[in-house]
Amino acid sequence: MEERGSPDGDPARNLEQGPEGPETPIQVVLRVRPMSAAELRRGEQSVLHCSGTRTLQVSPPGGGPDVAFRFGAVLDGASTQDDVFRACGVRRLGELALRGFSCTVFTFGQTGSGKTYTLTGPPPQGEGVPVPPSLAGIMQRTFTWLLDRVQHLDVPVTLHASYLEIYNEQIRDLLSLGAPRPLPVRWNKTRGFYVEQLRVVEFGSLGALMELLQMGLSRRRSSAHTLNQASSRSHALLTLYISHQTPQQMPPVDAGELPAGGKLCFVDLAGSEKVVATGSRGELMLEANSINRSLLALGHCISLLLDPQRKQSHIPFRDSKLTKLLADSLGGHGVTLMVACVSPSAQCLPETLSTLRYASRAQRVTTRPQAPRPPKVKPPQHLETELLQLQEENLHLRSQLGQMDPKASGLSGARAAWAQRNLYGMLQEFMLENERLRKEKKQLQSSRDLAHGEQRILAQQVRELERRLLSACYLQQPGPGPAPPCPCVMVPPLLCHAPPPLCPRCQLCPLCHAPLAHWACPRRELHLPQVFGSKAPGDWPLSARPPPWAPPCCPSSAKCSRERSRSEWTQTQVLAEMLTKEKVMPSAPPLPAGPLNASPVLRGGAAVPNLARRLEALRDQIGTSLRRGRSQPPPR
Ligand code: ADP
Ligand code: MG
Repeated sequence: MEERGSPDGDPARNLEQGPEGPETPIQVVLRVRPMSAAELRRGEQSVLHCSGTRTLQVSPPGGGPDVAFRFGAVLDGASTQDDVFRACGVRRLGELALRGFSCTVFTFGQTGSGKTYTLTGPPPQGEGVPVPPSLAGIMQRTFTWLLDRVQHLDVPVTLHASYLEIYNEQIRDLLSLGAPRPLPVRWNKTRGFYVEQLRVVEFGSLGALMELLQMGLSRRRSSAHTLNQASSRSHALLTLYISHQTPQQMPPVDAGELPAGGKLCFVDLAGSEKVVATGSRGELMLEANSINRSLLALGHCISLLLDPQRKQSHIPFRDSKLTKLLADSLGGHGVTLMVACVSPSAQCLPETLSTLRYASRAQRVTTRPQAPRPPKVKPPQHLETELLQLQEENLHLRSQLGQMDPKASGLSGARAAWAQRNLYGMLQEFMLENERLRKEKKQLQSSRDLAHGEQRILAQQVRELERRLLSACYLQQPGPGPAPPCPCVMVPPLLCHAPPPLCPRCQLCPLCHAPLAHWACPRRELHLPQVFGSKAPGDWPLSARPPPWAPPCCPSSAKCSRERSRSEWTQTQVLAEMLTKEKVMPSAPPLPAGPLNASPVLRGGAAVPNLARRLEALRDQIGTSLRRGRSQPPPR
């Protein structure tokens, strides 16, 4: 007696638990279909006997030795559809799919052995006539269980479904909106093999899912032959996609891309058939050949997967569309359950033995279950930019690091040694240093701004004083003034610190009828000779002469004043320079940022105390002038 079984102890244990380690064997359950009425009439005896719940005895009719096979579970002909659903362990796969694993249930066996019946129940009795609930197969029962399970979960779940068939080595979409057309199978590194442009339908209720199933079943190719009145002529794959995200949360996927998350795939394989036994001719024979070819490829892959050296050997998954789409279930990261179906008839014994051997081999194939990682979401634009900037800074720091002499870095002793050993430490040093310099720069900038503000205020005061000086000079001069006084002229106030106000009506200078713009006044030349005499030093035209309060120029350098008069500086700045006797930076535009080691406080701030002192002196001078003017008789 020969006994074959799972190599790693108790296979039933595996059915109850999740994937325990890196390697998980394919689970195999055997279902023996009941003898048909016709077979019983001929008096034929079953050659298969179940011993216990996991062992099947095969008794050859000629009286040869019995052969025993051991599987995860063995269900005899008396088992109901519900028994099969409960014993096969499909709910465990459903749980794993909810946790993000990729799970596959497939039926395997000779044609007419009950594969389609086990998965979806008996063929529909007519268009739109549902399968009676008691005869519903593993798929309908799993759907009911899953939808109920999903409702009791705390997290939102989004469900999608796709349904395709492989007919004559062509993939057809059973849920396509129009007539199904062949779809290509593609491969990429992240998704493995996938069907391009396959329609994936979102559903939210059991009724909607059952409708999708009925739609696919009614479109699937089936034909009658001697062993099966409704023999499936294609391999059919219905896949449920389970995602723990609401449709709003789901990242956008390209057209035809499958939703990320767990998967539960039901595969109803077309049965292997002996063309002689089924009596297939013409198109049926072509179909049978194509089915057999793909099943042969599947068997070949399983054999190679059993090879202990398989890591080195190439598994020819590309040999058929079926093996491409089952690649992940057989040798990848999926969790797989095989339901092997056999007929107890002695006539089918060779095929039954072949199926049993095949199933025994399959349960020694292991996969490495792995929940798929969530797809990488493209970061928003601003994050991407920030990332690029950080990368650039990092490169820059690295290059600095390469050039750096540890002795010159200012790091010393153990710290330098540590930093030298540790690139990360060096980077940290740089970052700290950068931070310190940034702070220092900020402080310097704020002092510079403060100095600018002070300088601006003082410049305003200078302008004001200069205007008052002009008034005072004018009032001191005897004789008629250059311009007739405004009828609304205001006598300059007696208080020495109050500036002569503008005419409240015309807002012009009471002296020259120009807005009080001192040397900007177009009539300045008329005033000045009368204030200071018509003979100006040098031969300069009046317009080129410096104002009387301009700083004395070096007599040897006539160029000096000319240059200054042509300069872009404002007259206020000239005055400020005169007052401070040193270079004053303009208040606007702002000071250009100098090198970090040149303190802006020193540049602007040194001028300020001088300017203030000079202002005070100027004020005194103006006060004296005004007092003197008042003591003299007023002009006409
Ligand atoms: P397969 O898909 O393996 O070719 P089917 O599932 O189509 O075979 O089954 C062939 C026939 O046997 C169908 O008429 C089906 O109703 C019947 N049948 C299969 N298994 C059972 C079963 N367990 N109980 C009753 N009838 C069954
Ligand atoms: Mg079938």
